[in-house]
Amino acid sequence: MNLTDPDPTDTDPTEPDPTPSPESVTPAPAASTPRVTFADLGLSETILRAVHELDYLHPTPIQEQAIPYVLMGRDVLGTAQTGTGKTASFTLPMLDVLTGSRARARMPRSLILEPTRELALQVAENFVKYGKYQKLIHALIIGGESMNDQKDALTRGVDVLIATPGRLIDLIERGGILLSDTKLLVIDEADRMLDMGFIPDVERIVGLLPANRQTLFFSATMAPAIRKLADAFLSNPKEISVSRPSSVATTITTGLVIVEPLQKREALRQLLRAEAVQNALIFCNRKRDVDVLYKSLVKHGFSAGALHGDMAQSVRFTTLEKFKAGEIQLLVCSDVAARGLDIGGLSHVFNFDVPIHAEDYVHRIGRTGRAEKLGRALTLAAPEDKWAVDAIESLTGMPIPHLTIEALPPAHWAQADVARPARRGRGGRGGRAATPAKAAKPEAPARPEARPKAPPQRKRATDATQAPPRVEENTGRVVGFGDEIPAFMLIRRRPRPMDGENADAA
Ligand code: AMP
Repeated sequence: MNLTDPDPTDTDPTEPDPTPSPESVTPAPAASTPRVTFADLGLSETILRAVHELDYLHPTPIQEQAIPYVLMGRDVLGTAQTGTGKTASFTLPMLDVLTGSRARARMPRSLILEPTRELALQVAENFVKYGKYQKLIHALIIGGESMNDQKDALTRGVDVLIATPGRLIDLIERGGILLSDTKLLVIDEADRMLDMGFIPDVERIVGLLPANRQTLFFSATMAPAIRKLADAFLSNPKEISVSRPSSVATTITTGLVIVEPLQKREALRQLLRAEAVQNALIFCNRKRDVDVLYKSLVKHGFSAGALHGDMAQSVRFTTLEKFKAGEIQLLVCSDVAARGLDIGGLSHVFNFDVPIHAEDYVHRIGRTGRAEKLGRALTLAAPEDKWAVDAIESLTGMPIPHLTIEALPPAHWAQADVARPARRGRGGRGGRAATPAKAAKPEAPARPEARPKAPPQRKRATDATQAPPRVEENTGRVVGFGDEIPAFMLIRRRPRPMDGENADAA
């Protein structure tokens, strides 16, 4: 195999986005000023010790900007996505703010609302990591777990309650909890709460908290509907905005192999054998490809697991735990299932498919090369994926070096008549490239809490079912009908029945 050594990029993803900051944003330090340390932020010695043991060298921009204000008791309105260090930006100072007082039975002192169970669990893990030298008690109130255990935990008194809105409302209705003493509230991933139709529940919950509370509100975007909510929930907040990096960490070396679609699995196996893979995420664009690839890897003797939004919650947890514990070496996954999950310290990320949205590339490969460790990110591109690779290169400002696999016939970019699909934006994240017709069923958002919901307030992401059908040149397959395809026209492709995930959000 011939693997070109790519040039590293010259940017650090923990640096602020180079685009001009809005007025409300505290300017980042100039390149020549010494970098801020955690000790500069006013955190206690016990927190600093825990952070030091995690090898965090410097606060990320959101941490640098938010932590002093949270410690001061100010409300914070943060525009930040996962991967920016957002969770520590509120958990670290919360631990200090809450230290020193005791919780009363059924009256949590602080509340963190998360849209999904996975994120709630992840925040809980953060409290364990960062709070190891503090004696604060946290509890999780999430669906899929025994309500009696959760009630027992509340009865003993908790300092930090981490909850998904649906289960929390259930408990409130059963009289298991009182929020009248909850003086610190975090609303995390507000845009996802909106997408999932949780806002009425959130409004109800916030209405039960005292007015003189401190509120920290985070969202990946600040669309008008989110801004309206923030205005309703926050009082004179400090506004902070950081972007997900559009650059690739200097610690990540990247590579791209152009390969015919039918040879992708073989190409991946070759790469897996040639590289010193310790553990890797392998991203597919579609759920059904996750299943197919996972089965194929297992059949070929690889230690692999699969993760996508159609899988039962318990299976997802077990698989993730096994992967984190090193019992599974490769995890084949979809973007949505992996979104927000903290699976750090990976040696490799593979893109079995070129992501349709260029930002997802940065997000995917940012799972490796973290905390100044070296990482490798390799992408398999079909000949017609040039438009998507061009978009990635233009976003990151860096070409992805091409690699060849000697055992496979070389493939090249398709000729120019493979056009980039028309732009239609993506569910509320306007301005990004649309899903091409061939990706007929992109994954729906992760499964929300199992509870009857008000209809979602924002329309879910449109998908390629709205794209005109077309005939694939090389296979003759008719694609792009999505769920609209008339039965008599089915050739090899069948519309998928409404799956659990879609049904949840319907
Ligand atoms: P988050 O954006 O909260 O999902 O965090 C993304 C990842 O960054 C998690 O794996 C954190 O453990 C890690 N992290 C958070 N803050 C820092 C930091 N200051 N230095 C290095 N890693 C960090």
